[in-house]
Amino acid sequence: MTDAIGHDDPARRPDPPRCTHWIGPERRYCGATPTRFYAYGYRCAEHNKIGRPGQGGAS
Ligand SMILES: [Zn+2]
Repeated sequence: MTDAIGHDDPARRPDPPRCTHWIGPERRYCGATPTRFYAYGYRCAEHNKIGRPGQGGAS
């Protein structure tokens, strides 16, 4: 069965741009997809707003 061509082949598909939102508490980038490109970088739907450094109210 080879009817899954192009479905999930990382060797053929370049990595999609991932969300560059920095998750401070987790010490990692969000990395979610899909993203849109903004002036401040690629951001997923959840992080498409300019963040407020220092704001740690989110649980
Ligand atoms: Zn994100």
